Amino acid sequence: MAGNYTKMGIYDNITQTIGRTPLVRLKRIESYFNVKNELYAKVEFFNPGGSIKDRIAKYMIEGAKKEGKIAEGAVIIEPTSGNTGVGLALVAAVEGYKTVFTMPTKMSPEKELLLKALGAFVIRTPTAVAPSDPNSYYKVAEVVRNLIWKKKKPVSRGELKEIVDYVQRLVDEGRLEELKAILEEEVEETPYAYIPNQYFNRYNPIAHYETTAKEIWEQTGGDLDYLFAGIGTGGTITGIGRYLKKKRDVKIVGVDPVGSIYHLIKKGMRLEEALKKAHPYLVEGIGEDLLPEIVDLSLIDDIVVVNDQEAFAMTRLLAKREGILAGGSSGAALYGAIKYLKENGIEGKKVVIIFPDTGRNYLTKIFNDNWLLENGFEIYDEKILEGLR
Ligand code: PMP
Repeated sequence: MAGNYTKMGIYDNITQTIGRTPLVRLKRIESYFNVKNELYAKVEFFNPGGSIKDRIAKYMIEGAKKEGKIAEGAVIIEPTSGNTGVGLALVAAVEGYKTVFTMPTKMSPEKELLLKALGAFVIRTPTAVAPSDPNSYYKVAEVVRNLIWKKKKPVSRGELKEIVDYVQRLVDEGRLEELKAILEEEVEETPYAYIPNQYFNRYNPIAHYETTAKEIWEQTGGDLDYLFAGIGTGGTITGIGRYLKKKRDVKIVGVDPVGSIYHLIKKGMRLEEALKKAHPYLVEGIGEDLLPEIVDLSLIDDIVVVNDQEAFAMTRLLAKREGILAGGSSGAALYGAIKYLKENGIEGKKVVIIFPDTGRNYLTKIFNDNWLLENGFEIYDEKILEGLR
C-alpha cells in the first residue's frame, strides 16, 4: 500500500470489503405496525455484489483452494442464476479464476448480462426439465466440468469459450445422447474445474458461522433475543443458528414462502408428502422443493410462513418508509418477523432480521406495478398490510 495512505477504509482488492455490514434499526416500521420490540435489519446489500452470497462465494473459493480442489487457472462452474453467481464471479475475477454459470431460460436477461459483465460465461438450459435430465442446469454444469477434466490441464479463455459454445449447441439442438455420454464417461478429477455446489458445500454455513453470526454477536454485544432469516439453501440460518445457540438461547425463526417444503418438514411431515404439496411461488431466493444437505432444521425453533403478496407489499413499504431498497426475501423476512411477534404476543425483545439482497435486482418485478398486476397481485401496499397493524 502507498506510503502516505492510512489503513482506514482502504483495501487491497474488492473481496476484502465483503462482510462487516451494518445493523439498522427500523424505527419507522416499528411505529407504523405498532411493534413493541426493537427491530434491527442486517443489511446485506452493502456487500460488493449486492447480496449476502458474496460471503459464501469467498469462503467456498478459499476453501477449495485450501483443500487443493482448484489450481491456478481453474474454471469455477455453478448452476445458479442469482446472487451466488455474482459473488463467485467477482471473487473469481480478483483471484484469476474463470467462471461458467448454467441457468434456465426463464431467468431474466439482466441476470445473464450481469454475470457476463463480471467476465463469466453463461449457458442457457431449458426450464421445464427434471434435475436428473442431461440438459438440466445441474447436469450441464457437470458436462462442462467433465470436458475440462478430460484435458488434464488448465484451459485458456479461448478454449473455454469453445467448450461453452459446444455445450450450448448440444443443449440447443437437444442432443441428449451426446450430453449423457459425456456425463457417463469415466474421467479423472483434476483441480482445473470445480463445482462448489452451495447446497452441499460446508463452507456455505461456515461462512455465516464465522462472519455473519459473529458480526451480529459483536454488534449487539450479545444482547439479542430473536433472529429471523429466510431459508433458501439454509446456509444463512444454519451458520448463524449454530453460532448464536452456542453463545446463548437466542430464538431462531425461519421464514418460508407458501409453496415451499421447509415449514411442512419442520412440522413433521415426511419429505415425500411435503414434496407433493410444493408449488411455485414468485418470491426469489427462499424456500425449496428439495432438502439441501447443509441445512440443520434442529437449530431452528420455529418457521413462519409468508405468501408472495405479503412479501412484496412489505418490500415496497420498506423502501418507501425506511429508504431501504431491498429484495423480496427481505420483505418476506420482515413480514414474517412482525407477524410472528404479534401472533405470539412477544414484547420488549431485541430482534435481528436478515435482509439478504438489494432491491435493484427486482426493479422490473416487485417495484413495477404492471408486473404485479399482470401476476394477479394488489399494488396498494398499505391496504394489504392493514391486517398486520
Ligand atoms: N434471499 C435471497 C435473495 C437469496 O438469494 C438467498 C439465497 N438463496 C436467500 C435469501 C437465502 O439464503 P440461504 O441460501 O443462505 O438460505
